Amino acid sequence: MNLSTTHVGLLQQHWNQLFDSTNEIYGDEGAFLRRTGMTVIQLVVFWSVGGLFLLADVLKPAWLIKYKVQPFEELPSYRIKHLLRVVVVNQLVSAPAGYFWNWLEVQRGSDMGRDLPTVQVFLRDLICVILCYEFVFYYTHRLIHHRRIFKYFHKRHHEWTAPVALSAMYAHPLEFFFSNIIVLMGPLITGCHTTVTFAWAVILPLEVLFSHSGYHLPFCLPPEFHDYHHIKVVNNYGIIGIMDYLHGTDRLFRKTKYFQQRRWVFSFTPVQELIPDGKEEQKRK
Ligand SMILES: [Zn+2]
Ligand SMILES: [Zn+2]
Repeated sequence: MNLSTTHVGLLQQHWNQLFDSTNEIYGDEGAFLRRTGMTVIQLVVFWSVGGLFLLADVLKPAWLIKYKVQPFEELPSYRIKHLLRVVVVNQLVSAPAGYFWNWLEVQRGSDMGRDLPTVQVFLRDLICVILCYEFVFYYTHRLIHHRRIFKYFHKRHHEWTAPVALSAMYAHPLEFFFSNIIVLMGPLITGCHTTVTFAWAVILPLEVLFSHSGYHLPFCLPPEFHDYHHIKVVNNYGIIGIMDYLHGTDRLFRKTKYFQQRRWVFSFTPVQELIPDGKEEQKRK
């Protein structure tokens, strides 16, 4: 992939300005920029996109509701208030984890520098970060599903059998604290450049929001994989599905229409109409 030298030059120029402005104040060679930038990007993406999904669930316009994977459920205001409270508390509680992780990254010698990586290095590291997340999330998620542990932590996240976007961060604070560390494993292991962590800070909230949204929207990430996990509480412990495929923990899922409906749709026709009838699975339940 080639970016013209003018584009690369412009990107580098903007990055230098950003880097220098924070380095002048903190003199920490990009550490503050890395941690704070990642936090701000994550919060902005999460609350802006998550807020739109919440608005859709409250206003429930017919043209959007037809894209719901599960039958639409009313979202009473007391449930919204409780959801918002839990999410905000979790974000506050987990904030120190990010700053501690930032310190670890400095010790490890992660690339927080002034020079941008090449496109190839950027993409290679971003793919590694995503695969690392799939790997670590799968095993830790399976662990907290263990029958002796489940009721203490993860059960709270599964109160949502038909999840909504913001419920992605509805969890026991301790679980959320550790999940915040898990998402940072990839950047720590790869030692990737700060711009890769910024891209990750955009991709991650989008992934969790769409997976929990319950909407299979045209041109957007299909939510069936994780939605099925919330319906059945077994199967589909990973994010992409690679680890579930390797361990056979997607066997039940593969027999359902959800599996067939889990694909990107490039038309405005709801996937239930394109591949009928995924809802049979829920009726039998
Ligand atoms: Zn979930
Ligand atoms: Zn789970």
